[in-house]
Amino acid sequence: MGIRKFGVIGSGQMGNGIAQVAAASGLDVLMSDISDEFTARGLANIEKNLNRSVGKGKISEEEKGAILGRISTTTQLGEMESADFVVEAAVEREDLKFKIFQDLDSICPDHVILSTNTSSIPIGRIASQTKRPEKVIGMHFMNPVPVMKLVEVIRGLATSKETFDITWELCGKFGKTPAESNDFPGFIANRILLPMINEAVFCLYQNVGKPEDIDTVMRLGMNHPMGPLALADLIGLDTCLAIMETLYDGFKDSKYRPCPLLRKYVEAGWLGRKTGKGFYDYS
Ligand code: NAD
Repeated sequence: MGIRKFGVIGSGQMGNGIAQVAAASGLDVLMSDISDEFTARGLANIEKNLNRSVGKGKISEEEKGAILGRISTTTQLGEMESADFVVEAAVEREDLKFKIFQDLDSICPDHVILSTNTSSIPIGRIASQTKRPEKVIGMHFMNPVPVMKLVEVIRGLATSKETFDITWELCGKFGKTPAESNDFPGFIANRILLPMINEAVFCLYQNVGKPEDIDTVMRLGMNHPMGPLALADLIGLDTCLAIMETLYDGFKDSKYRPCPLLRKYVEAGWLGRKTGKGFYDYS
């Protein structure tokens, strides 16, 4: 497929996970962020994950070294001109993603596919920021990326068959199983998952149950591996709120209104695991 260098925009929890699986598949990876501190943190997280894999005997020290050796970092978006395929995994803000795609469109050669890991923003809206909408596609990895098998591949209205086929094939190279979704707010995964999480927050808000009890009901009663509030803390409450806002704005249906308690936590800076406090305390 002619992809040797894989560009990743954003070194946060999703970006560094995507960089890790791409490098583990044998590709050279260029991972970017807005400061050296963030790229260093992303790289440190990859090393921590790989050390865990070495400890479990899943990979050797040599393989770990080779994977790390294939990853370079930058704070200069302009360096993405050398990438053959790009995935954007910056924060879930439409204005920010629009700017990144406008910039990437002028930086990257015309044949390069520009994909986004957005959780909910319509691909068509992002694609319309570029002069290559047929080469823009959703490549939605799940968290934590090295562990979760699924990638939701989202076809925008203008996405070409060639773009879709290359992206689908890349998922297989990364050891992932792709599922196809059409372009509606939240796609398939978050159209179903986030209203459930939001309803769990309403249960807490209306004192139907304590966080531990809400999560225990869903873990033991519905056999979910994690309760919805613990999962919200893992996803990031800012990301959860952003997805609910996108669903609400996109469908104009009151069933997608974000719970006021979710908004209150985000306003307080209680974003879940990444800030040490969300529905649970991680300090
Ligand atoms: P995060 O906050 O952990 O990381 C986002 C990173 O983007 C930060 O390091 C930030 O500095 C960086 N960034 C901000 N502006 C940038 C710019 N202009 N250029 C480059 N980097 C920039 O967030 P995350 O959880 O990794 O989410 C990233 C994306 O992945 C979002 O679109 C989110 O909706 C999506 N996503 C998240 C999850 C999840 O469970 N958290 C799952 C699937 C998809």
